[in-house]
Amino acid sequence: MIPLFRVAVDQGAGPLVAEALRTGVLGHGPRGEEFEQALRDRLGVPYLTTLNNGTSALHLALRLAAGHGDGGGDGGGGEVLTTPYTFEATNWAILANGMRIRWVDVDPGTLTMDMDDLARKITPRTRAVMVVHWAGHPVDLDRLASVLDDAEAAHGFRPAVIEDCAQAWGSVYQGVPVGAHGNLCAFSFHATKHLACGTGGMLVTPDEESHRRALRLRFFGIDRKADRVNGDYDVPEWGYNFYLGELGAAVGLANLSSVDARVDIHRRNAEYYDTALAGVAGVELTTREKGRDSSFWLYPVKVDDRAAFIRRLAAAGITASAVVRRNDTHTAVRDVYDPELPGLESVHDRVVHIPVGWWVSEWDCEHIAETIRSGW
Ligand SMILES: *Cc1c(COP(=O)(O)O)cnc(C)c1O
Repeated sequence: MIPLFRVAVDQGAGPLVAEALRTGVLGHGPRGEEFEQALRDRLGVPYLTTLNNGTSALHLALRLAAGHGDGGGDGGGGEVLTTPYTFEATNWAILANGMRIRWVDVDPGTLTMDMDDLARKITPRTRAVMVVHWAGHPVDLDRLASVLDDAEAAHGFRPAVIEDCAQAWGSVYQGVPVGAHGNLCAFSFHATKHLACGTGGMLVTPDEESHRRALRLRFFGIDRKADRVNGDYDVPEWGYNFYLGELGAAVGLANLSSVDARVDIHRRNAEYYDTALAGVAGVELTTREKGRDSSFWLYPVKVDDRAAFIRRLAAAGITASAVVRRNDTHTAVRDVYDPELPGLESVHDRVVHIPVGWWVSEWDCEHIAETIRSGW
């Protein structure tokens, strides 16, 4: 079977991990510092914090957003406008922070947040807006900023923007890497994501103050440079155990040297499908826009009779999958259910993802496209 996901481990990872094991520094250490510097250089941002996974990055981003604007920082309360079309990690982090979910509809073209619906739903209760670059496709960040400008003018308060960039390593918006547009940006370095540590993640913060807070909060609220030998330190606010270990940092550092080449193959394969699948009966491609360059962690298409499509591809040795289901109809969130999400309704049961990654050869791409063209 041609898989939908594969884990990349650069050949340089072994020696770096071995070095960490030999020195016995396995918590936070030199490889973690080097990885963070390399990530800053790569994204062109001054403030980022590596973490133990992407979900922790979302938790931390929401914790920072909860205290945003009111000087409170008590980590609780407030409403977050978010998308139901994502992996559950995105939305459960909102609940874990004691915040309330309000669902925003999905643009059927891009499968990302519908900015018109967002504009309608922003109120003075909105503490944060959570967007997801699904499959790596960048959301319309300019439109998002203008919706927030309008809300700020109307309500005197600017909600924080959190970008779930878990799938968007390597994506580019208006010529600038996703993650470098001045918002709170949460990345995942999970094994199957573009840049893998094994498990790992990162939070990009827009200013020095939130960066300092993020650094403390990832380690129990303690400033790691504080004098703990003499017990001479204070914890201004409680934090978590969210830091990234040295073994993960070593793997991430090695993978960083070859991730671009792999993302290029995702892009090349996606370009092939864009042509090969255009106009095929029963298949609708997602929208492409100028200035919004996906890294194609996934390649979503909308198809008629999804179950039959998945069966047909499986019979030809190809994995295809919905990957996620809408989060808003889970029992866990029945108290915030919104029956009026027509965009999501119109695509949800038709979306399916086909193999597109660096492990998919040109021959595989042709086989996949030919199988789809032959019908299901
Ligand atoms: C993978 C993923 C996450 C979670 O990241 P982890 O590193 O597994 O915690 C969050 N949101 C989205 C959209 C993801 O795809």
